[in-house]
Amino acid sequence: MPYLHTPISALSGVGSARKAAYERMGIYTVEDLLYHFPRAYEHRGDIRMLSEAAEEPFKSGARMPTLLTVSTEPRVTRVKGRMTLCKFRAFDDSGSCEITFFNQEYLRNTFTVGATFRFYGKVEQTGKDRFTMTAPAFEPYVEGRALPSLYPVYPLTEGISNKMISGHMGQALPATAQVEDPLPSYIRESEGLCTLGYALREIHAPEDFSALHTAKRRLAFDEFFRFALGLGTAGRTARIMGAPICTIGEDVMEQFLSALPYALTGAQARALADLRRDMASDTAMNRMIVGDVGCGKTVCAAAAMYIAVKAGRQAALMAPTGILATQHAADLLPLFEKLGIRGALLTGHTTAAHKRKIYAALASRDPAERLDVVIGTQALLSEGVSFASPGLVVTDEQHRFGVAQRATLSEKNAKAHLLVMSATPIPRTLALVMYGDLEVSRIDEMPPGRQRVDTFVVDESYRARLDAFIRKNVEAGGQVYVVCPAVEESPDEAADASLIPLSADFGTRTSMLELTKERPMKAAVQYAADLQARLPDLTVAFVHGKMKPADKDKVMSDFAAGRVQVLVSTTVIEVGVNVPNACLMLVENAERFGLSQLHQLRGRVGRGTRKSYCILIRDGGGETAKARLEVMRTTYDGYEIAEKDLTQRGPGDFLAPAGSSEIRQSGGFRLAETWSDSELMNHAFAYARELLEEDPALETYPILKKTVDKMYTRAGNILN
Ligand code: ADP
Ligand code: MG
Repeated sequence: MPYLHTPISALSGVGSARKAAYERMGIYTVEDLLYHFPRAYEHRGDIRMLSEAAEEPFKSGARMPTLLTVSTEPRVTRVKGRMTLCKFRAFDDSGSCEITFFNQEYLRNTFTVGATFRFYGKVEQTGKDRFTMTAPAFEPYVEGRALPSLYPVYPLTEGISNKMISGHMGQALPATAQVEDPLPSYIRESEGLCTLGYALREIHAPEDFSALHTAKRRLAFDEFFRFALGLGTAGRTARIMGAPICTIGEDVMEQFLSALPYALTGAQARALADLRRDMASDTAMNRMIVGDVGCGKTVCAAAAMYIAVKAGRQAALMAPTGILATQHAADLLPLFEKLGIRGALLTGHTTAAHKRKIYAALASRDPAERLDVVIGTQALLSEGVSFASPGLVVTDEQHRFGVAQRATLSEKNAKAHLLVMSATPIPRTLALVMYGDLEVSRIDEMPPGRQRVDTFVVDESYRARLDAFIRKNVEAGGQVYVVCPAVEESPDEAADASLIPLSADFGTRTSMLELTKERPMKAAVQYAADLQARLPDLTVAFVHGKMKPADKDKVMSDFAAGRVQVLVSTTVIEVGVNVPNACLMLVENAERFGLSQLHQLRGRVGRGTRKSYCILIRDGGGETAKARLEVMRTTYDGYEIAEKDLTQRGPGDFLAPAGSSEIRQSGGFRLAETWSDSELMNHAFAYARELLEEDPALETYPILKKTVDKMYTRAGNILN
């Protein structure tokens, strides 16, 4: 029997090639393998008759589990040189099916006449009572021994098939008996959670829906709990003393304010007063400016940078995407230049030569050569970057950076003041855990002249009218955003109604059809092409997260300059981009987005003088989705929306926004992310706080401490 710490290569069937493949997925030991959770399950338990192949969803190609008895001896024929076919017939009460396998001659010994198998695959009807299946999955059926009904489907890498992982997992599962449960048993009992060993077994080999639900609940709790403990032990260090005192006189501050084309709002002025006070102290500032999109956080950050520079220090601003960093640079560098401050932009595609120049200028001891300000992306975290005289670090949309990145940045600038800007109001429970002692300035007032973006929720029946509405807005001189959900699964799989994602709610729903009837989402690429075909005289462009940064930036700047009228995108435009001429935001498959995300998207329009609209197009999701989206029609307060989102959808959107958090990539939030019951999270957070109060370093909980460290170390490794 394998031990948890047995290297993966000790399992039978894992040679050096497969070991390397596993290692690429971060799997080194049997324990790592056990934490490699399925991403979906094939529902093979709901045995169907062959005749049902003519009915939905199987008619549309969904795979079907059948129980068939072999009726003819397999015949092997040779075709096209080296390829062989192995064919035989098998039947149930409703018909007979010809089954074909390729290049698997040895199967002729498996399928003996009279033996019964569970087959799982696409069934095609070829005549009355006649069917065919090609290369189905199969398991021998033994009378009286139940076959598992949920068959796990794992995330894969090249060189590792699902069948292999399942086999290796089968060898690994007995090791769950040795799992030491890190969760204090009083918490486990009062929350009614199963043991960790049980959870790890059931997630891979679920007995039924309810056992799977129980397992997921336990594993989700653990993720929340570890997350909260990790932030509590690592993040909440004492306020750092010895930060540079940055003070400037009223007249110097006035120079900045009079260089702006507008007067600050009252809320901006209050935020500025807060950060001036913080920066005038030798205890490092640790402040977050929160406020709805468009409220004008950037200028507050610019003021803080100005203060640092005028006090003889340097300032850095880090944004989560190249597009956003570039936009900040375009807005702020000219302003700084006007004020006699030297700045530069540093992103992933700054040329190596230019980078070296920037590094040198940032590190220069000579104030005459030194760069005062740098604006950039994660590129600012790279090793070459060091500041001669750091004063202030600003991060924009900080919740999009992971914990490890945040840690790196503050380590690099241990004694600098920290300022965070965030547009997503983080619900209180989460903010307490994520930011601990961070102080908050809230900008609760919009610059004058801002308008409310009229919001509508419509369904497919409005399609023709939507096209006309796009045209109308463009003809009036405006610009249009269309947002489609990112495409993750292959289209083939998205259409496969017999695959149930791990994220499904196994607790309340019990039938396979209920769990899987979601329709495939609009593939953004195809969508843009179709839209361009329907509106041939408009310029439609397309941008998505997997594009090269340079290409993406090109499209974005074409849109910003008005050369593109309709921009179709996945959610990469979500943060921060400012195109005041945009007046219509269409969101496809709106039911797939969190309310806070939708609120952010809506904030992309209504930034100029044009009357602006946000239209949420719903495709499925039923009454629940409709009711949820209705909130957007009636509520414009980001905080209220965030709280609603947390109760309705759970914390996933706040914990790990798509594609940006290393904890997510490291698998740290596999279950928490889609867990829709915020009660579980609140309880996990509350227990974590209680535990930390009693034992801040987790000295009396060594196993627990180890699991927490592991989650954060893995996350940190991914960053590097
Ligand atoms: P966010 O808070 O979403 O980052 P920005 O800082 O990008 O918002 O500001 C949005 C827009 O509002 C910018 O075009 C900015 O120039 C403008 N703006 C900011 N403050 C004011 C103000 N006090 N009066 C008028 N316009 C302002
Ligand atoms: Mg912004």
